[in-house]
Amino acid sequence: MTAFIQRHGRPPGLGVVLAGHSPASEVYVRNKLKTVAAAGCRAELFRLDATAALDDALALVRRLNGDDTIDGILVQSPLPDAMGAGAEQEVFDTIDPAKDVDGFHPFNVGLLVQKRARLVACTPLGCVELLEREGIALRGKHAVVIGRSDIVGKPMALLLLHRDTTVTMCHSRTVDLPAIARSADILVAAIGRPGFVTRDFVKPGATVIDVGINTLTDRAEVERLFAEGSRKRAVFGEKGSVLIGDVHPDVDEVAGALTPVPGGVGPLTIAMVLRNTVTAAEQRKDGGRAI
Ligand code: NAD
Repeated sequence: MTAFIQRHGRPPGLGVVLAGHSPASEVYVRNKLKTVAAAGCRAELFRLDATAALDDALALVRRLNGDDTIDGILVQSPLPDAMGAGAEQEVFDTIDPAKDVDGFHPFNVGLLVQKRARLVACTPLGCVELLEREGIALRGKHAVVIGRSDIVGKPMALLLLHRDTTVTMCHSRTVDLPAIARSADILVAAIGRPGFVTRDFVKPGATVIDVGINTLTDRAEVERLFAEGSRKRAVFGEKGSVLIGDVHPDVDEVAGALTPVPGGVGPLTIAMVLRNTVTAAEQRKDGGRAI
């Protein structure tokens, strides 16, 4: 960071756009801003009212595109429903690809497909960072990714493919999902269904990455998923809600390794916002080198 500031006379800058006041988005945005600022970057929040029109969001993004002290732009999803269907894609498409720290712009997605990515979606980037830092072998291994969203499942599959992993992508229409999942050395769950992946989805010793973040507030569901005396039930008893991933915590007894929820992929995603901000800043100064 110091080297960047010495060379360019200013820190890398991140502009975060938050439309509306969703409590979950407020927490995500606060954590992103805090982490990026703590590392010495400039992190600025740009708010839009919940009633803002799509044109207001587009105008703000264009203003940030033209601001040379802003290296990264992140528009917090979801945008208010009032902006209309397709608003999110239109806003992401308007972000300057060189400042697209979420890696959602079609230009950056295309570069990722061609294995010459510059900015990659933060959550899958964090998952791969985790696998590599933990020394999990990827080459020639079989990875199963459950979920085919543009922000997690698809980029995750591509990142694994580019590391010579054999990848199977599964989704809501996949037939015999537990059997396919059981053939995985590395299983990634990005579904959005609490505790969906149970022990019978997992080959003994497999590495399991749980991307899901689900908040349970229904006592009956908590009691269905967790035995009496379990940690999740205790948290629910205390707070009236409990966070759970897409993977049931019992999977820990079968898997070789399992990321926890909370505390696993979530913080890594935020760390990758910081990394992408610095990457975007350096690439803008260097004229866009591929990573
Ligand atoms: P999404 O709703 O866009 O996609 C979900 C995917 O799951 C779809 O592709 C769908 O085909 C698949 N799916 C749904 N039901 C299924 C079923 N019964 N069997 C097999 N596949 C099924 O969700 P997303 O944005 O990819 O997010 C997935 C989860 O990851 C959510 O819980 C979300 O909160 C979480 N998430 C976490 C982070 C993080 O930082 N940790 C970041 C993004 C998303």
